[in-house]
Amino acid sequence: MGTTPQSPEVDGQTRLVGVIGWPVAHSLSPVMHNAALRRMGLNWQYVPLPVHPCCIGDAIHGAAALGFRGVNVTVPHKQAVMALMDRVAPEAAAVGAVNTVVMTHDAGGDVTMEGYNTDIAGFLGSLRAGGFEPAAGGKGVVIGAGGAARAVVYGLLKAGMEEIVVLNRTVSRAQALVADLQRASASVRRSPARLVVVHPSRVRRTLQVRAGPLTPDELRVETRGAALLVNATTVGMWPNGDGSVWPDELPMPVHLTVYDLVYNPLETRLLCQARESGSRAVDGLGMLARQGALALALWLDTPVDVEATTAEMRRVCLAALELRRLPPRQLPAGEMVE
Ligand code: NAP
Repeated sequence: MGTTPQSPEVDGQTRLVGVIGWPVAHSLSPVMHNAALRRMGLNWQYVPLPVHPCCIGDAIHGAAALGFRGVNVTVPHKQAVMALMDRVAPEAAAVGAVNTVVMTHDAGGDVTMEGYNTDIAGFLGSLRAGGFEPAAGGKGVVIGAGGAARAVVYGLLKAGMEEIVVLNRTVSRAQALVADLQRASASVRRSPARLVVVHPSRVRRTLQVRAGPLTPDELRVETRGAALLVNATTVGMWPNGDGSVWPDELPMPVHLTVYDLVYNPLETRLLCQARESGSRAVDGLGMLARQGALALALWLDTPVDVEATTAEMRRVCLAALELRRLPPRQLPAGEMVE
């Protein structure tokens, strides 16, 4: 497989970034990052790096030794990679996941590795772009307790939502999320100043988060006074695109903003249910694009227009999903877009 006709020349000056995951074959990150790098006129390439869980340490150190400027990290490595970092940004430490590694090389060949989590700001920015302002306070219900849910809950608390309820199929995992975030508020306070990206008092003030089971009853009761409902589970994602975390028999409150992190398919059943009930629906593609633009801003030495880059990356992803026929049924079984 060679380069596509649109790819710029690779020469001796080309700088490298990429995405480490397992699998990564259908990741949209290479196409959206390379489009942005080309538009900026930079001699950089963003490459997919399939890394089995057995080899994450070798892969990260190998990328550093090969002169990479950094990597994105996706499923299933976001937690494991933290222990390999020289420094972890407080937000990433707080959620327990790194999705962006910045590698700084000195003249003597030493490499410093810093871990960041751009999913948090990616989520918040796309939520705001979708018309919901978390700083207005109020209550949010987050469904799911995996890595993505951690970033979402942390982000909502940081942004100023007053109350978050985390509902998960495995309730002990939701409880662990809550306990970890409470511990994290202490570690944020201890973190080195140069990496502090969140005001500690804000996290302290807003840590009002509790856990519950994902049942129709809990959904009914907890969403009654809520302003926001977020799906941070894999339900509704290809190849189970017909599923929804919201039961058919339960009327959905009309006052909700419903955000689905799943973006493949773009119009999930949950978002259809939201629109049908008169609620505002926001898809997860904006988060994917924004976390990518923010990662690029961390790697590049030149200023990045995050808004323009986010918009461009979203456009490129839409085209990739639609024109290159990446949607679900075209993907081999077991593969998914990150
Ligand atoms: P994860 O760590 O594997 O967590 C999966 C979550 O889904 C868990 O809470 C799990 O519940 C729940 N779940 C799975 N199957 C379920 C079912 N049948 N019924 C109810 N709950 C179920 O995954 P993740 O990394 O957090 O990702 C979650 C979703 O967010 C994925 O769809 C991913 O693509 C998406 N995401 C999107 C973006 C973006 O940029 N838009 C970024 C990151 C992630 P249990 O704990 O009970 O297993």
